[in-house]
Amino acid sequence: SRFEDRFGVAPAEWHSAAGSPARRRVWREVAAGRARIVVGARSALFLPYRNLKLIIVDEEHDQSYKQEEGVIYHARDLAVLRASIEQCSIVLASATPSLETMQNAQAGKYSHLKLSGRPGVSQLPTIALADMREAAPDTGRWIGPELAAAIEQTLAAKEQALLFLNRRGYAPLVLCRACGERLKAPDSDSWLVEHRYSGKLVCHLTGFTMTKPLECPNCGARGSLAGVGPGVERLAEEVHTRFHGARVEVLSSDTVTSPDALRDLISRMENGAIDILIGTQIVAKGHNFPTLTLVGVVDADAGLRGGDLRAGERTFQLLLQVAGRAGRADKPGRAIIQTYAPESPAIALLAAGDRDAFIAYEMDQRRLVGFPPFGRLGAVILSASSAEEANESAAAFSAAQPNATGIEVWGPAPAPITILRGRHRRRFLIRSDRNVDLSAFLAAWKERVKLPSNVRVALDVEPYSFM
Ligand SMILES: [Zn+2]
Repeated sequence: SRFEDRFGVAPAEWHSAAGSPARRRVWREVAAGRARIVVGARSALFLPYRNLKLIIVDEEHDQSYKQEEGVIYHARDLAVLRASIEQCSIVLASATPSLETMQNAQAGKYSHLKLSGRPGVSQLPTIALADMREAAPDTGRWIGPELAAAIEQTLAAKEQALLFLNRRGYAPLVLCRACGERLKAPDSDSWLVEHRYSGKLVCHLTGFTMTKPLECPNCGARGSLAGVGPGVERLAEEVHTRFHGARVEVLSSDTVTSPDALRDLISRMENGAIDILIGTQIVAKGHNFPTLTLVGVVDADAGLRGGDLRAGERTFQLLLQVAGRAGRADKPGRAIIQTYAPESPAIALLAAGDRDAFIAYEMDQRRLVGFPPFGRLGAVILSASSAEEANESAAAFSAAQPNATGIEVWGPAPAPITILRGRHRRRFLIRSDRNVDLSAFLAAWKERVKLPSNVRVALDVEPYSFM
């Protein structure tokens, strides 16, 4: 393989999909110092290295480094800690670095190495905004005239197009046209997503699945339930009807469910056996498709709507990465970004190709309010089996707040996902100055309250999820 040719050894692989025997073998090889290079997921940080000299965190901005379940930690930050304990070198690599890392570089804590240009002869694609307020698609369609024309040109030139829509399934919402009921998961406060390929309604939070009912569960009307909005499956339907004869495939975690299936699809795309690839954020990862010259972002505003602290940063990083799929070989690429908010900084500066200006803008916004990386954030999430118990516990928790300076507390408030797996959730958001030990403050706060044993309190320092 390319890796072996370059480094003379095959890497030991460490990830949860590998079986226990394989993991035991890697663990022993690492402990004995025989595994010279380990390529691994987050938990590779916990292997018993004998003589660790270099850690590379690729795509360091990727928010999936934050482990949200069970033991909460941020693998990038833990990698920095481990490197400092081992006194070894660490490289945080990214084309779209996180603000936290940029701040450390600007403060002189990290040295900043810039790679000029992309590998090989390829150039960054040109990025154009399609203002959907001026040229909207017809009702029930999601591809506007500008993007449609570009797809036609691309197909005529025997080149490939990638359409990016970060929504799995057919429709993100199912609505009763008779009574207006929106179908929710029975035990969670989240909309059920219609999946046509599997014929199911799915809760993407908990994995709850049911067959789509024939009658509205609220008013009993027959055949009244309709999917609202597009997912990748619905986009594929539109592409099939509008671009006859084009070979279309969908890449999402629902359609490609194994590493082998993914490899197979990637190789068909590389060999030109696919004309239009429709994908969720899986397609953003660094694949090289030599004749992919057009990237269409169907709904650039999707990630901005949640409006959490990092919505703009995340949108900018993701869309720049997706746009970068176009024109990886000698053919120049272009990206067309469909948006209803062309003036929003993340979108406008993306179109201008000005990453540094975007980072400067975001830094200013965060500095103004003392949010990370200029301050610390913490979250307390209380959950109880009834709304009353959640409210009472949240009030008791609030009353027990220790006195401290340099700390602001907002809440309690119902969490955006108010009910999850039958549990009623309340949130506090805590901001502190950088010099405050926020972990210690939160732990001390939790110690002061005696709550019923079935009330759970979760502490999250530097939260990435605000749901
Ligand atoms: Zn109804």
